[in-house]
Amino acid sequence: MQNYQNILLAIDFSDYGQYVAQRAKNLSDLLHAQLHIIHVLDNIPMPDTPYGTVISLNEDSTDQLLQAEKNKLIHISNQLEIAPSRRWMVWGEPQHEITQFAVQQQIDLIVVGSHERHGLALLMGSTAKEVLYHAACDVLSVHLKN
Ligand code: AMP
Repeated sequence: MQNYQNILLAIDFSDYGQYVAQRAKNLSDLLHAQLHIIHVLDNIPMPDTPYGTVISLNEDSTDQLLQAEKNKLIHISNQLEIAPSRRWMVWGEPQHEITQFAVQQQIDLIVVGSHERHGLALLMGSTAKEVLYHAACDVLSVHLKN
């Protein structure tokens, strides 16, 4: 059986992102696989400030916010030594875009984080669960403690 050759790290820039990213990086190094990274823009990114979350009302600030998301992707990709040609930022619904992208790019393993969910949160869908359900390839769900 062939090892994984193309691993896709789905990153959401949450506090747990680094942990998920490190798992994907270690695995790809171990297997000498190509590591790809994807971030899906599922809403207009809004910055947190000391006085709350700011909603931009003009195009310039939306551009700046997009640039900020792009910078985050560049930063983490540099840390993980992922080549620019394997960095992706797309619009849409995360689970849909991640699984579609994996098919298009012939990804054989998707790495996502999976939070422990309790109570009402159990009723809400998680990205990891949806990716696991819809992916055409294997999925590594990295267990995240809340
Ligand atoms: P969630 O179910 O939203 O807590 O997300 C669980 C995992 O899904 C994260 O750790 C990421 O691996 C992935 N994920 C969630 N949202 C996104 C996103 N917008 N772009 C890429 N990956 C995401």
